[in-house]
Amino acid sequence: GGARTVPHRQRQPGDPAGSPQHDISLEAAMFQAVREGEFLLYYQPIVSSRTRRIEGFETLMRWKHPTLGMVPPVRFIPIAETNGLINMLGAWALKSALVQLRQFEEVARRDLYISVNISPRQFRNDRFLSVLDDALAFSGTPGDKLVLEITEGTLMVDPAHAESILGKMAERRARIAIDDFGTGYSSLAYLKRFPISVLKIDRAFIKDLPESSKDAAICNAVLDIAKHLNLSVVAEGVETEEQLDYVETRGCDYVQGYLTGKPMSAHVALAALKEDLYT
Ligand code: C2E
Ligand code: CA
Ligand code: CA
Ligand code: CA
Repeated sequence: GGARTVPHRQRQPGDPAGSPQHDISLEAAMFQAVREGEFLLYYQPIVSSRTRRIEGFETLMRWKHPTLGMVPPVRFIPIAETNGLINMLGAWALKSALVQLRQFEEVARRDLYISVNISPRQFRNDRFLSVLDDALAFSGTPGDKLVLEITEGTLMVDPAHAESILGKMAERRARIAIDDFGTGYSSLAYLKRFPISVLKIDRAFIKDLPESSKDAAICNAVLDIAKHLNLSVVAEGVETEEQLDYVETRGCDYVQGYLTGKPMSAHVALAALKEDLYT
């Protein structure tokens, strides 16, 4: 289209995120990427902080572009959210992850769960529940092995609508996790209103533990609330033994971070599960 005044050129490594020349070429490349099948899924272990055994995986989308290399989700998810591609990509991720879980469980020979990120636009989409039902039916995976990760913002746009959708997810026995907990504009009242099962403490509150007394206070408060509301907690972005020790000692059941496993291909995840089995 010639109406745009922004010059088209290949993205340069130094382009700031969100710069127009970057986004327009990236957006065009995304449609191509869908046709070429350049999107793939990585899986990051969510482990028991006490035993360090893998209990589940978070599904994380990747885009492997033939010349740009790995395009990080912080670059392409916002574009997909704007142009609506997220609905299609998200449906694909949900179905693929639920299918993948069955292979993970076969190899591990025990129950695992799979966590999938749901963007605000997906959540609000009229067809979301039928997408969910299709994915569950196609995979044969029981709903109680699925955790849907949403942010505080997703709930707050239209709380009444969110309440009805979450109720329907609960009917399917899928659990809801609040992602990046503590970073949204939180009214803690929603913890009472909505059927939530998991809080994921954002990496921002973990990364300076145990030195930062403010972050320590926030983590302790979240763990305390979770305990009283009977929610499980995942500490995100755990990179050191000290951080793991800190949250474990204070009652955090699950951790996810580079210390216990980076996001990995399904193939590598299967190898990790085999190791888990024999140790
Ligand atoms: P998120 O849902 O908060 O995912 C966690 C992010 O933290 C991932 O980044 C993961 O690689 C990173 N991470 C995990 N452990 C560590 C650690 O120890 N240290 C550090 N520095 N980082 C760690 P990633 O994969 O780049 O994804 C970024 C964001 O993109 C996600 O944040 C999520 O909001 C979005 N995203 C990724 N995949 C999907 C998807 O399939 N659908 C939707 N809607 N959003 C997705
Ligand atoms: Ca997440
Ligand atoms: Ca998160
Ligand atoms: Ca995040």
